[in-house]
Amino acid sequence: MHISVIGVGYVGLVTGACFAETGNDVICMDIDDDKIEKLKQGIIPIYEPHLEELVKNNLKEGRLGFTTDIKKAVEHGLIIFICVNTPQDEDGSADLQYVTSVAGDIGKTIEKYRILVIKSTVPVGTCEQVKEIVKKELDKRELDVPFDIASNPEFLKEGMAVDDCMKPERVVVGVEHGRVEEILRELYAPFVRTGAPLIVMDVRSSEMTKYTANAMLATRISFMNQIANICDTFGADVMMVMRGIGSDSRVGPKFLFPGVGFGGSCFPKDVRALIKASQSYGYSPSILESVMGVNESQRVSFAEKIKTFYKDNIKGKKFAIWGLAFKPNTDDMREAPSIYIVNVLTKNGATCYLFDPKAMEVAHKVFEGNGNVRFGKNQYEVLEGVDGLVLVTEWLSFREPDFERMKSLMKMPVIFDGRNQYNPKTLSKLGFRYICIGRPDVQISNI
Ligand code: NAD
Repeated sequence: MHISVIGVGYVGLVTGACFAETGNDVICMDIDDDKIEKLKQGIIPIYEPHLEELVKNNLKEGRLGFTTDIKKAVEHGLIIFICVNTPQDEDGSADLQYVTSVAGDIGKTIEKYRILVIKSTVPVGTCEQVKEIVKKELDKRELDVPFDIASNPEFLKEGMAVDDCMKPERVVVGVEHGRVEEILRELYAPFVRTGAPLIVMDVRSSEMTKYTANAMLATRISFMNQIANICDTFGADVMMVMRGIGSDSRVGPKFLFPGVGFGGSCFPKDVRALIKASQSYGYSPSILESVMGVNESQRVSFAEKIKTFYKDNIKGKKFAIWGLAFKPNTDDMREAPSIYIVNVLTKNGATCYLFDPKAMEVAHKVFEGNGNVRFGKNQYEVLEGVDGLVLVTEWLSFREPDFERMKSLMKMPVIFDGRNQYNPKTLSKLGFRYICIGRPDVQISNI
């Protein structure tokens, strides 16, 4: 099948590469010249496991191409996937300017029947809005080109995006006609042949499904963070509680890990967008409002814990920061808790020595102009002479570090663990002061 993908970010690039991998002829279009030039040479602008080989392979086989020419993209694909960003607007709602701009461009260039599939996460009613925009442009051109619209929300997880795309747990499509369903079923057949359901529904329900999925996952995280805070008060161990409830099949073990809160390009903006959209219709979604409230206060109270440990005086102190990406296996730092934590520490006069296995390049841009930030080459280098280590992102390489080596490098063997990675008793025996989330403080005598 001939496919076009508009917007070549985390979602668009993975989608395009995976469709090409199953034999489709794919053109990916973006307005970012630099990105497209690099992609044409097989240079991948983001870190995502397995993506590079997939892109390079399909470029070589001639099934995947890149362009900045919207006309070419609209001409090429029977199915046009819209994968542009839908960031948060100033008031918390979804900023749809990129989606509506693409809709306008399609309306200006469409010449024959096309199926427009919106993969971007968009508020309920956006597909209808896109349809109207395309129609208006066609009216201006005095043309009556037939086209269909569909919603096909993306559920991939950064860090596992290729796997999620090739082997989805489910595919959701919202359609207005059976003919679109048939074509999308054919396109997705290779991805769901092992039995994953392709769930077909109306367009509005499909748009709502994506927001609901993210809101649910965010709710689990905030719920567990709140339980962790209660555990802190009562001297219970949240990790034990988590195991205790996660083994109940009605609850399940996923998305229950307490920590410094969720970040990333999706959960925060999508939950806020759902809240804002509901409010604009006069409904106040109190659970979701609390989910965001708990999430925001989680990183604040973690930073407070650090300051309190040093009796509210961290001026001149040095901290190593392990992990900057919003989660492991990605270089994405959008809304990463690390940004807040580093900014609080540095604003209070501390110097932060940063290390992340993949996000260093992005971090240079994020912390540009912050004179109290230094960038390290590896996880041990940043520990030299520091007054404490702050673990923010749970990369695998931080799970079983060489604690003896760490202790010999650090000025003060203090670990603030925002992801509850280590065993408090073990660390205590090794001579560390270990401060984590929702677990009894194990005091030691030899610091
Ligand atoms: P991104 O910011 O990584 O990429 C978006 C791309 O769209 C950019 O390259 C940008 O240049 C391009 N673009 C913007 N306007 C354009 C235009 N007019 N024409 C062509 N290209 C244009 O975004 P992303 O993370 O890939 O997310 C895309 C959408 O998918 C968002 O709605 C997001 O909420 C949703 N989503 C993201 C994820 C994720 O993990 N990143 C997962 C599921 C859903």
